[in-house]
Amino acid sequence: MSIFSRFTHPRGDLNLKFDKESYDYNEELTGKLIINPKEDFQAESLCLEMTPVEKIRTQHYESSNDMNMVMRALNSQIHITRDATFEQPFRTQIPFKSRSYPFTQVELRVRGVVWVKERHSLTCELVPKVNYPYMVECRREFGGCGWVSEPSLSLISECPRCGLSLQRIWDAKEKALEEQARSEARSHKPMMRRR
Ligand SMILES: [Zn+2]
Repeated sequence: MSIFSRFTHPRGDLNLKFDKESYDYNEELTGKLIINPKEDFQAESLCLEMTPVEKIRTQHYESSNDMNMVMRALNSQIHITRDATFEQPFRTQIPFKSRSYPFTQVELRVRGVVWVKERHSLTCELVPKVNYPYMVECRREFGGCGWVSEPSLSLISECPRCGLSLQRIWDAKEKALEEQARSEARSHKPMMRRR
C-alpha cells in the first residue's frame, strides 16, 4: 500500500437499500449494504450505525435532538475484489423511540460503514421511513394526572384515567415552546462591538 492511499478511502461506492418503503417501529429493518469496489481491499468490518433524531416543530419553534447511536456489526474480515459487487444483507431491530406530542417527529438516520485498516472508511447514509409510536402523557405541569400511554401508532386525544382533553395539554406545551423561542430570540440579539 502506498503512503498516499492511507489518506483516502478505497475507490468504489457503498450503498444502502431497504427492502420496504416504510417500517413500523416494532418491525425489523431489512435490506442490503452494497459495495461496488473499484480496487481490491480488505474490509475489517461492515456495520450499521442507527441514530434516531427527535424533531419538535411548531409554527415558530424548532428543535432537533440526536439520540444515542446504536451500532450493529454485520460482518468482518472480508476480502473485496475489484469490480465484483459485494452484497451484505441485514435484518436488525429498529432502535426504540417514542413521540410525546403530535408535533414531535422521529427520523432514523442509518449509516452504512465499511472499516478498512489504516484507511478512511467507506460510508453512506439513508433515512428509511419509520412509523414511530406516540407515548403521550397526561402531564401534571399542565393540570393532568400523570398517566402515560402505551406505545401506539394512533394518537389518543383524551386521558382514559382522568378524562382531561390531551389537546389542552398539547396546546399549553406548544404555547410554552413558542414563548421559549421568543425569549431565546430576544437574548440572541447581536452584541455591540467596540474596537
Ligand atoms: Zn389524566
